[in-house]
Amino acid sequence: MNDRIDVKNIPADVKVYKPKVDENATYNLRSRIYVRAVKGLHQAIRRKMGIFFLGLFALLPWLNWNGQQAILLDIVNQQFNIFGLTLWPQDLTIFSSLLIISAFLLFVVTTFYGRVWCGYMCPQTVWTFMFIWFEEKIEGSANKRKKFDSMPLSFTKVWKKGLKHTAWWVISLLTSLTFIGYFVPVDQLFIDFFTFESSAMVVGWTLFFAGCTYANAGWMREIMCLHICPYARFQSSMFDKDTYTVTYDAARGEKRGPRPKKADPKEIGMGDCVDCNLCVQVCPTGIDIRNGLQYECINCGACIDACDETMDKMNYPKGLISYTTEHSLEGKPTKKLRTKLIGYGLVTVIMSAAFVWQVVSRIPLELNIERDRNALYRVNNDGLVENTFTLQVLNKSQTNATYSISVDGLSDYEFYGEREFAVAAGEVYNQPISIAVDPVELKRPVTGITIIIRSSNGELEVSEETRFFKGR
Ligand code: SF4
Ligand code: SF4
Repeated sequence: MNDRIDVKNIPADVKVYKPKVDENATYNLRSRIYVRAVKGLHQAIRRKMGIFFLGLFALLPWLNWNGQQAILLDIVNQQFNIFGLTLWPQDLTIFSSLLIISAFLLFVVTTFYGRVWCGYMCPQTVWTFMFIWFEEKIEGSANKRKKFDSMPLSFTKVWKKGLKHTAWWVISLLTSLTFIGYFVPVDQLFIDFFTFESSAMVVGWTLFFAGCTYANAGWMREIMCLHICPYARFQSSMFDKDTYTVTYDAARGEKRGPRPKKADPKEIGMGDCVDCNLCVQVCPTGIDIRNGLQYECINCGACIDACDETMDKMNYPKGLISYTTEHSLEGKPTKKLRTKLIGYGLVTVIMSAAFVWQVVSRIPLELNIERDRNALYRVNNDGLVENTFTLQVLNKSQTNATYSISVDGLSDYEFYGEREFAVAAGEVYNQPISIAVDPVELKRPVTGITIIIRSSNGELEVSEETRFFKGR
């Protein structure tokens, strides 16, 4: 039996307001959605989660760890400092593990609870709702805003619109500066920006990201979710009949229509939907969930809260719109644990374990050996066979360190060069060395040797194998 449910792309009966446009204009304004504010359990959860993640986003770059910015993704110097851990481009596997874990975590959540990421945590949603909050505080409720936009230009309109756009720009600028603060020292960034000391490049990037935030959350809003975000397109492959999605219970709701509050719907041959249209008015993507599951739905639960409010007023049981599964609507039990979910979960757990192991076992020291390209070997004035190498030692820690060199695989040898050397934190140090051996000691033309680098406190050690050439 195929448990997949296809996402139905139903031409939704979207009741959006279209501002009057000049017929002679060469372009038309897009239809705007005036999202009506709603209160309820799901909106409270969404708001609290939004505040939590916004707070985290704003605070993290300001945290210090061992006297340094705790999170600094220094792209110019190719070093990502995260709470004392410095990651380099060589640590690509750690980044890849992190990306795979995030992707599979998203798959687990989507398979179980549909697009709740989009509805509750996606930055696009969080910022959009924040912008709508300012819009509502300055211009009023959805109905007032609709009327306000149709009114001719006036002093009130100018100052209210001006205030709204100023507020949006301030948030956008702060968002942009905070975001850039993950990549450059944040305190200096803010000081330089507000004292007009920033470089043209920093100003350019700040305005670019601020412009993106302003355009996305202020103007594009649902367009991003409906037409640009790729996640909306492939989510259906994760849905099945046991996925919890926001669903209208058509069997209970139909036949819809207004009726007196005291009338018993069964007696008058009606369902529980009073056709108040609130579920459409509060929807940030402007769809009517009563038309069935649609890819535009971001599972935000706003229509659930709006409908529950109506059900309360009518003294009907709540839950005409709810998070439920297709199996549940068909009267069958919902299977919580299923093969696909277990598979995604297993990959997440395995990759998380691999990630932890990679981080814990990571040695903040790296050694590369380069041979002298001009000569594999030479015989020196003492009659010894000499091989020359350049050791590239990368101190991947956040403190300066001193290292020593030793060689394994040769019973007796002469060492030319520094045995001990210091490398600053985050620096690459090139150390040329030569090793010379009496040819009588060498049994074969090529001998495998190991060069070992040890930190002076003995805590770190890396080694690399190479070959010692004797010649004929
Ligand atoms: S249909 Fe309901 S859950 Fe889906 S986006 Fe609209 S308001 Fe949110
Ligand atoms: S909010 Fe509920 S009662 Fe009102 S139209 Fe939507 S489904 Fe029907």
